[in-house]
Amino acid sequence: MSTIDKLPSCEDPFDHLLPVDEARQRLLDTLQPVVTAAVESVPLTEACGRVLAIAVTAPFDVPPEANSAMDGYAISAGDIPDEGLARLRIAGTAWAGRPHVSQFVRGEAVRIFTGAVMPAGLDTVVIQEHVRADEHSVQIDNEVVPGRNVRAAGEDVAKGEAVFAAGRRLTAADIGVLASLGIVRVPVRQRLRVAWFTTGDELVSLDAAAGAAPVAPTIELDDNSALGIGPPGSGLLYDSNRHTLRALLSEAGVELIDLGVVPDTLAATRDAFVQASSRADLVISSGGVSTGDADFVRQVFHELGEVAFWRLAMRPGRPLAFGRVGDAIFFGLPGNPVAVVVTFLQFVLPALRRLSGESADNLHPMAFPATCLSRLRTSRGRTEFQRGIMRTDKDGHVVVESTGAQGAGRLSSMSAANCLIMIAPDRDSVQPGDQVHVQPLYGLMP
Ligand code: AMP
Ligand code: MG
Repeated sequence: MSTIDKLPSCEDPFDHLLPVDEARQRLLDTLQPVVTAAVESVPLTEACGRVLAIAVTAPFDVPPEANSAMDGYAISAGDIPDEGLARLRIAGTAWAGRPHVSQFVRGEAVRIFTGAVMPAGLDTVVIQEHVRADEHSVQIDNEVVPGRNVRAAGEDVAKGEAVFAAGRRLTAADIGVLASLGIVRVPVRQRLRVAWFTTGDELVSLDAAAGAAPVAPTIELDDNSALGIGPPGSGLLYDSNRHTLRALLSEAGVELIDLGVVPDTLAATRDAFVQASSRADLVISSGGVSTGDADFVRQVFHELGEVAFWRLAMRPGRPLAFGRVGDAIFFGLPGNPVAVVVTFLQFVLPALRRLSGESADNLHPMAFPATCLSRLRTSRGRTEFQRGIMRTDKDGHVVVESTGAQGAGRLSSMSAANCLIMIAPDRDSVQPGDQVHVQPLYGLMP
């Protein structure tokens, strides 16, 4: 019996393939922040998600003065005797925003409300539930704890303290901290410029098709057919990857350069590469990266770029191209819609964050253990990323279930998922009750 000498393919055994974590670490070690990124000063209202260009130190204390954490009575703890009750005259009232300013006299208390500045000479607030008071005086027992219920000046942020390091990607809470420091404009790194295109003669660009057959702007709520522009035509499909990538990139806060759908020809693919690498810091393509006769991405990349093709021990996500074209970093993602999302999250997002100048110690996606409730089929030798739905069970443990059929073309299974289930290369199946790791799909970029 004769056999055919087989060429390399995605059905090869996995023993000599690069593990995912190692590939990602190599990638991060290779990449440096884009040096040409200029610094721009943006209003605080536009700074969320941007990467700080310089370190921020506190120009003053927050809170600027000691203030009360509770509604009650401000006193000097020294006025409280060891035994019995103290009766203190109420000298006035301190409101939030309206301090009590008169001279402090020994043995006096001040009625005080949350957020009001502590009157000079007083050091403790006794909450109103713990006193006996009338209009003119307050009685306090000896259970007073000196300094209680007072927020010290600078307790949140002290003047001169390093608040944020350069390279921090600003979160919503960071924006609040900057506001509390009176910072109205924020120096940030220019957004990373990311160009992307999809390849495939079977693809219909939604933008072009919608332009030709405009959808009525008014929507009949009981007529779903009015929502779209109809089927794409025989042998064709709508280009979903370009829109998935746009949405993923929008969340990542980069400058978007959409280069459209590129037909499966050598000339068009070369042209897309040249254009993309002259305009962007990072270039992403989808499809055309295998070795078929209509796969030109690999060929052009070999011709124009410095190639570091990876044979990765993962599924979905092979083949994946990575390297440099001119001054730009290039990722050639598979065409398969699920693989696009998986490879984007595993490789493109960490790379993009490093190139953006983010200084976070760990750019690997967050993963944590969960108990799998489903039976999963998998193959030894590679990390599988299956689509899952995670939740906490009644005992508060994290559990995960499969979204069902895992075909790599089923983008709807990705959309049903709230996490990726990672199945380690040493497993050939997962039984209900087994431990797996999950990567939440949202909040992947803290
Ligand atoms: P390829 O890697 O170009 O061979 O594509 C792999 C599979 O993904 C094929 O079934 C394609 O039709 C499909 N595909 C490729 N690009 C896209 C796209 N932009 N949108 C939707 N499906 C795609
Ligand atoms: Mg293709």
